Amino acid sequence: MNNDNNTILGFDVNLICEYFLSTERQGPGSPEVTLKALSFIDNLTDKSLIADLGCGTGGQTMVLAQHAPGSITGIDFFPGFIDRFNSNAEKLHLQDRVKGIVGSMDDLSFKEESLDLIWSEGAIYNIGFERGVNEWRKYLKTGGYIAVTESVWFTEERLAEIHDFWMSVYTEIDTIPNKVAQIQKAGYVPVATFILPENCWTKHYFAPQAKAEEIFLKKHVGNKTAEELVASNHHEAELYSKYKEYYGYAFFIAKKIK
Ligand code: SAM
Repeated sequence: MNNDNNTILGFDVNLICEYFLSTERQGPGSPEVTLKALSFIDNLTDKSLIADLGCGTGGQTMVLAQHAPGSITGIDFFPGFIDRFNSNAEKLHLQDRVKGIVGSMDDLSFKEESLDLIWSEGAIYNIGFERGVNEWRKYLKTGGYIAVTESVWFTEERLAEIHDFWMSVYTEIDTIPNKVAQIQKAGYVPVATFILPENCWTKHYFAPQAKAEEIFLKKHVGNKTAEELVASNHHEAELYSKYKEYYGYAFFIAKKIK
């Protein structure tokens, strides 16, 4: 899944972002999982600089900010998400150390070796996992961490329907050992990997979309593309329910040691 020509799965990115604007998160995950990943990271102080790349409206960023010291810069290329991100930070009185900025994860303006932690939930696929872990490494200080979620195969073999679906949306989906090997090759020490539980998809990602869908369809009555986008999201949920033994998301936490 990439966003060349401002489309994802053939849908205009602005339309997708509008659909997700009213949801707390825009990808699978949960506060519990964010905190579990954070528990592996031991280098943070009040002076730490953290980046959350592809932050969306900041569901995970706010959880992070409430449990970790330091300042967080959220980067997302959709301005509507960043506006919502910054108003969420204000509501939680986090605005002094949590800021959202419009930008692209493939054109970051951080100084090299300036960050203590790079966070990215459900977003690195936009530039591809291998490219992301390689390119982002230079922004980390020695001793800094990367914590990202990524889609993974749980099995070596799978049925054609689900294989073909993933090949049409994100060919870089791979098994956990292969992803860990890519992390190691990029110059990190893999610290922890765990699979996101099913409720990260069902309760925290698919279920909240029912409300978003209602608002969205009301606004776009009779709009074929809007209807197709909703149908495509339903299809994704159906496939997950049918094939969840074969794929999911995993959190990868790794450290740059030199
Ligand atoms: N991290 C959030 C979460 O877990 O709820 C959002 C995940 S959502 C699946 C992917 C996010 O990546 C979207 O907010 C999208 O706007 C953002 N995105 C896509 N391409 C991007 C890019 N090149 N640079 C920055 N953000 C990007």
